[in-house]
Amino acid sequence: PGIPTAAISRLITYLRILEELEREERLTTSSGALAERAQVNAFQVRKDLAYFGRFGTRGMGYTVSVLKRELTRVLGLNRSWNVVIVGMGRLGQAIAHYPGASEYQFSYVGLFDVRSDLIGLQVDVPARRDLHSGLGQGFQARTLHIQHIDSLAAFTAQQPVDMGFLAVPTEHAQSAAQSLVEAGVKGILNFAPTLIQPRAKEGGHLQEISDEWRDVMVENVDFLVGMKRLAFYMLNPQLNEPDPE
Ligand code: NAD
Repeated sequence: PGIPTAAISRLITYLRILEELEREERLTTSSGALAERAQVNAFQVRKDLAYFGRFGTRGMGYTVSVLKRELTRVLGLNRSWNVVIVGMGRLGQAIAHYPGASEYQFSYVGLFDVRSDLIGLQVDVPARRDLHSGLGQGFQARTLHIQHIDSLAAFTAQQPVDMGFLAVPTEHAQSAAQSLVEAGVKGILNFAPTLIQPRAKEGGHLQEISDEWRDVMVENVDFLVGMKRLAFYMLNPQLNEPDPE
């Protein structure tokens, strides 16, 4: 059985709360305390954590550092993730400059576009945060040069790339996604407001997915969806209901 997307989102929230608690120098916490900060109930917290085993002692709560370490591990945030950004226009550049992603060992290793005036341009990206440097030390920057998308496959042959952020105009999203997949990138964070179609196998049936697409994960991010959802619920507050589990 799988784990609902909403539960994964909450686990990511709990992890952020545990970091807050650590900054407040609290050593232990409880499902009730986590629930209050995450705006859910304690039963929900225990249920979400139970997907991955038992982390606390009954009646004793959780040790903040232990739960944080375990959640970091189950969420796969204790390893490093190499990321390329495809599309270095307004959004791509904004993402590249945002320091948040360098937490948890996400690091930008390559930036790609097709526009001749952007190719070769230097962009300072936040370097992976040294987990031992402590807070408040600021982010170090690393300089990358924007490269042409046609050199992506040669790039991934030299350097492992785990994820591609897709920040190209909608009409180019499918072909840019295809470039990523052909270069062997298995995870796509798609910012374009369109659904990426896995390519069908040549000569195969409609639903038969080609080999290179078989284990590709696509996650869509669209703030316009949030904006429209907000508008809908503002007009229909009585229809607002939390996601069922
Ligand atoms: P932009 O026009 O400023 O930049 C897009 C860049 O993609 C350009 O530099 C262009 O040369 C490049 N590009 C085009 N085809 C390419 C290809 N095949 N390979 C590599 N690069 C290619 O656009 P923008 O304002 O940065 O928006 C980018 C995308 O993000 C759009 O689809 C937009 O709708 C979307 N967007 C999403 C969100 C969100 O919340 N998810 C927010 C803002 C914008």
